[in-house]
This record gives sequence, structure tokens and C-alpha cells, in this order.
Amino acid sequence: MTPDARPLAEVKVAKLKDCPMLTAGCINPTTLHSWYSACRRYMKHADKKADEIISIVADTMMEPRLMTWYQAGQARINKLTLNQYIDELAGLVLEKKWDHKLWQKILASSQGDQAFIDWKIELENYNAILTTSSPSYALTADRLMAQLNANLNESLKGSLTMEPVLATSFDACNKPADHKYLPKLTDQEKQLLNEHDGCTRCRTFYAGHHSDTCPMKASGTFPDAMNYRSLTVSMVEAAKPRVAAAFVKAAPCDDNTNSYVSLSKPTPFTVPHLYAALDLTGPAMREFPLPIRALLDVGCPAVIISASLADQLGLRCYDLPLEEDNLSSLLDALLRCREYVRLRVRLGNGKWKSGTFRAKVNTGLPIPLILGLPFLATEHIVIDVNLRTAIDKRTGYDLISPPLLPAPPMAPPYAPPLPTPKKVKPPTPITLEEASEPALVGYLLPEPIVALIREHIEVLTELKLMNEKDCKFKEKFRDRFPI
Ligand SMILES: [Zn+2]
Repeated sequence: MTPDARPLAEVKVAKLKDCPMLTAGCINPTTLHSWYSACRRYMKHADKKADEIISIVADTMMEPRLMTWYQAGQARINKLTLNQYIDELAGLVLEKKWDHKLWQKILASSQGDQAFIDWKIELENYNAILTTSSPSYALTADRLMAQLNANLNESLKGSLTMEPVLATSFDACNKPADHKYLPKLTDQEKQLLNEHDGCTRCRTFYAGHHSDTCPMKASGTFPDAMNYRSLTVSMVEAAKPRVAAAFVKAAPCDDNTNSYVSLSKPTPFTVPHLYAALDLTGPAMREFPLPIRALLDVGCPAVIISASLADQLGLRCYDLPLEEDNLSSLLDALLRCREYVRLRVRLGNGKWKSGTFRAKVNTGLPIPLILGLPFLATEHIVIDVNLRTAIDKRTGYDLISPPLLPAPPMAPPYAPPLPTPKKVKPPTPITLEEASEPALVGYLLPEPIVALIREHIEVLTELKLMNEKDCKFKEKFRDRFPI
């Protein structure tokens, strides 16, 4: 095969979801790798299935030779997987032993005058082509690392011997290099900028603007290529916005002894912090609440608990989102917080209770608990520094000087209780059958029996009276009643 002198074919992609196109022209290993990557991205973003992808992308090859090849074997080629298709294409378009030549090119490559990062990316790309289309020639990650290490330019080799620790990961190579132009953002850099509110124009994390509103865009400038460093996670860490959580050890001072300037009411240099005496409970502290003094701090943008207090209470720690590890002291020392806890606090024997809130955990915090703005805001606490009060505006309860509990009323003098009257059992009614032999004395008989006897006597008396009257009338009117 004679070397193809035509211009290189190009892979054109309008949008991730649009089918890529391979223009007519000479195809080298790099072009083939781009074509493979574009087809894979299209398959992923357009949600195409593995068994339909070739029938779509093979139709967009504009090289006449490849169009003929595809049309001749369309049914067979459509059934190939993407890798099989690329392999077959490689056999058609790449010069013989291209993989061996590319492999030799990697082994023979040296950094020379190139920026390290550019050279490294170039070799990684070549190796990726081998991995895709001729895996037997591809270098392992370690082998590639050794290859890079052995072929650095002299000045970089010198710096690496000064920085042996970094040398293993090549981070040391990522110094401001002799860039003649600004390198393109890598996918990893773009992702970092995206995740940390960065601007892709000025390449700054937490920039506070986007690339379309970037001052560099307005002025038509770019970051300085000579001093440019590739963006890394440690740069993100350094660029994180930090907020000061202020607390100082301070005692009120008394300057009455100084009479040099007579002020009717001198302003204090220092005013004591505002503390609330709280009772805390937790899984390890259920029975007797732990009394602590918490700092009420309107200057602190977070609620922070010392790791030792969280431990003492046995609170469960949760992972704090990375972007919330954003505190520093006024001395600019970082207040590292990797975890948070959930807790509630009580005051005045439970007269006032907070809701459940989250506190960042800091090891070595000089104060057990700082109740910063999130707590004060959620609990509706209004701090009056002049009166030194911190009042829950919903209930009027003052967290700094809780109202005294009303004293229990005086107990009345002891009076022995009156004896409990004996319970009178209601008599169980007795029937005539159950009754015992009647006593001679009628009044000793049970009431129902007496009643029965009385009723019977009355009936008998009535009968006798009626009989007597009957006899009297018969006697009186004898002549009228024939016998
Ligand atoms: Zn910008």
C-alpha cells in the first residue's frame, strides 16, 4: 500500500445526541480512535442499542471506498459489534503493521521541548488507540509511567530528583511549564470546574460568575499560558470559600485605675461572650443530663460541636458534605470538619427545649459547643447584646438568664387523717325457705319474714272479720235467706 497523501479525514459531531460523521480523507490511527470514541459517545447519549449502532454510524462514512465496502456487505456488517467493526475498519484503512509502528513510536518518544502535560496526553492517546484496536500492543499503566519517567527532558528530571515523593505520581511534573499556548481543558478539569462553581474562561474555582459573564471574556484575554498549572483537587481545596468562626479567650477588663482621660461612661474594650447553660443528653448520657456552657455566637455561620463532647454524649456521626468543610478561625487557621451530628439541647430542667439541629464536628474545638447563626435563626433567638439576653421570641424565654423556677408552695402542718369509717355490708336477702327456725321473739326475726307473717295475719284477720259479718247479716235477715 502506498502512503495516502490526501488530507486526513475528520470526525464531525454536532451534538452528543446527533450521529457523528466521518468525512472523506486519509484515516490514521488517531482518526480511527476519534471515530470509535464518537460512535461510543453517540451510542450512550442517544440511547442506541449495541445491535443497531453500526447500521446507523456506518451510513455516515463519506469516504467513497468505505461507502462501497459498507454497501457491498451491509447485512453482514450491520451485525458486527462496535469493536468488531472498528477492527475490520482498521484492517481496511490503516497501513500494514500500523500497531507495531505506533507501539514503536510510543517507546521512542521523548519529552523534548514539549510541556510535560501535552506530551503525557499525546502518549496516553496513542496507547488508548492500541488498547482499542490492537490490545496486544498496548502498554500497561505502570509500563507507560516507566516510559514517561525514562524519557523526561533533563530539566524536569532534575526537579524530580528534588521531589522524590511527588515523582511517583508525576504531580511534580505539573509545574508551570514552558507553555507557548494555553492547553485545552481536559475532561477532568472541566468536571472539577463544573463541580466547584468554576469559570472555564478564567479557569478559577468558586469564581462567582460563569464563562459568559467572565471579566476575561469582556476584555478578550485568557489566563497566562506561561504560569498556567493544570487544575487539580488540591487547588479546589485551596480555593474553597472559607468563613470565619470567631471566638477568643477574653475576660472583661477594668480600667478604673486610669484617670488620664475622664469619660463619664467609658466603653468597654472587651465584653464577655454570651453563654447559655444547657443540659445535654445523648445515647451515652440518658439518665443524668450533662451540663455545659454553649457559646451563643452571631458571628459564627455554623453550629460546631467539639469532637470530645460528641464522643461523651455518644452521638452518631454522619459524613459532612465536602463543601460544608468551609470554616476557618479569624487567624485563618482551618477548622476541619468532616462529620456532623444531630442533637437537641434543654434549658432550665426542660422548661425550654430546642428542636433537633445539626452540628459540625471539629476536633480540638476550645469550646464544647458553638451555637451559631443556623441555631439562632431556627430557634427564633433574638440576642440583645446591651441587655445581655437571648430570648426565644416565640415564648419569651431567655436562654442566658432563664427565669427562676417558682418555689414550691409551703406544706400545710401535719394533721393525722380521720379514721376510715367501717364499711357496712348490706345484708343479703334471706328467703323463707332458707330462714332458720323462727325465734320466739318476733322482733329478732329477719325483716322479710316478719313482713310475710304480718301480711298473713292481716289476711287471716280480714277473713275472720268477713265471716263474723256474714253470720251477723244471716242472723239479722234470717227470713229472707231460705235454708
Ligand atoms: Zn471567569
